[in-house]
Amino acid sequence: MTDQDTFTAYNAATGLPLPGNFAEATAADIDKAVRSAEVAFEWLRECRPQRRGEFLRAVAAKMRLREPEILARCELETGYLPERVRGEFMRATGQLELFAGLAEESVWDVRQFDSGNPDRKPFPQPEMRRRMIPVGPVAVFGACNFPLAISVVGNDFVAAIAVGCPVVVKSHPSHPGTCKLLGEVVDEVVAEMDFPEGTFTLLHGRRPETSVALVQHPGIAAVGFTGSPNGGRALAQACLQRERPIPLFAELGSTNPVFLAPGFLASGAVENRLEAIASGFTTSLRFGNGHMCTKPGVVVMLDSQAKAFAEAVVDKMHAGMPMPMLSAGIADAFDQGVAKLADTTGVDELYGPRSARSDGAVPPDDQAASFGPWHRDARWFAVDAITAAEQNLLHCETFGPVSLLIRCTDEEQMLWVAKQFKGSLTATLHVDQEDAAFQASWLPIAERFAGRVIYNGWPTGMEIGAATHHGGPYPASLDGRSTSVGYASLDRFVRPVCYQGWPEEALSRV
Ligand code: NAP
Repeated sequence: MTDQDTFTAYNAATGLPLPGNFAEATAADIDKAVRSAEVAFEWLRECRPQRRGEFLRAVAAKMRLREPEILARCELETGYLPERVRGEFMRATGQLELFAGLAEESVWDVRQFDSGNPDRKPFPQPEMRRRMIPVGPVAVFGACNFPLAISVVGNDFVAAIAVGCPVVVKSHPSHPGTCKLLGEVVDEVVAEMDFPEGTFTLLHGRRPETSVALVQHPGIAAVGFTGSPNGGRALAQACLQRERPIPLFAELGSTNPVFLAPGFLASGAVENRLEAIASGFTTSLRFGNGHMCTKPGVVVMLDSQAKAFAEAVVDKMHAGMPMPMLSAGIADAFDQGVAKLADTTGVDELYGPRSARSDGAVPPDDQAASFGPWHRDARWFAVDAITAAEQNLLHCETFGPVSLLIRCTDEEQMLWVAKQFKGSLTATLHVDQEDAAFQASWLPIAERFAGRVIYNGWPTGMEIGAATHHGGPYPASLDGRSTSVGYASLDRFVRPVCYQGWPEEALSRV
């Protein structure tokens, strides 16, 4: 193997290489992984669902045994604060245990039965049973920003294993060391519980060809992808180009607009409300340094109320510090997205690096020396509604801590802006009692473009439950009917079979 076939990970806070080399998966590695997954599938689909539940619980338990090591590597590779990483660790282990329970109950296996009628004229009606079966080996691609909960043992992994599908994961090149540790955890559980070797394989890679080769292997039956719209589209094309196309479930990114209805500043305790909403917005925007697919990337409100809100937000932003972006590529993409906004005629910058506070003071720059090459501070821009629509600023996600305030002349224009959105993971409405009419008009519009519609809350932070839907019309997902988070994520990796005329005893294993 040549040097070119390996790569290293980087410390997000310093930009310096971290220990460890990761070998780019070869065609032979991919072939071996998928072939053994095909063999494992025959066993996994037939094993008792309780066994798969025990397997997922064992992965969670073993992760906890290696928690300090996993957290330490993850902090280095992401630059996330310890509490952010710890929170995601708890989410990932909780998700494993939650889906263990769903596996044990086989909740995805919704069955239908149509009784037959042999005497029906002119033709007898056969008896029919419908059940769900697992599709086969699943290829998994996680995103850079969730190295634990949307990664090697993340949402796609738990859903696939729960229903009986083996998994081949392509590690994310911005956190391969974390992926490696998680992969070791799963490998150990596979061995200890006597699961077939091909139940799980972790491959590394940072070249698009490696990802394409994996999804185009004839033994892969479905793909779970979380990442950028460009990455999702590229791999979807690769799936379509196969001799036998397969489904790719891609959860992508969006701008997650937040609408502040006029009443939010018009009622009683105006200052408290302004303070609370400015604080909630800034916290949501800066969570994980803006590395969230659900980050509030657009705020829509009346121009007459925008100044007070914008200033309150700027004051909150001054309280934060620049944080590391996840990789050099993510930092570059952030800079390009910010530059595009800053260079657009009609766009005003409200908050940038070291911009003045509302009292006129400029914060000291004495901390700059401690920042690495990928540290970036939050950015906050404003534009009028017409320019935003004409310049296509409503849909373009810039991944990282940046948001755009859309100033509207009146409520009618706010609703017009809402109608411009085509697809988003979320849409949020902040209202007061006097906004009833606006709320009634807004909701049917928001339902058409968003997968999750939030009332007086914030889009970041999502529960994993039966009612969860994490997806939406493009660019939120490639297919807004599927969700990558929540119980319904299981449905992606099963397909229905109708058994016509079969005697019940012949279907004892069904
Ligand atoms: P990304 O660049 O699309 O990478 C995701 C995966 O796809 C990586 O393994 C990457 O491998 C692979 N990939 C990307 N482009 C490819 C191509 N052209 N051909 C083949 N493989 C390709 O996404 P990211 O930067 O990691 O994540 C940030 C994005 O994910 C943001 O847009 C964010 O909103 C979104 N996101 C969405 C969700 C959600 O649930 N909807 C959650 C988290 C993040 P290589 O790097 O090796 O090419």
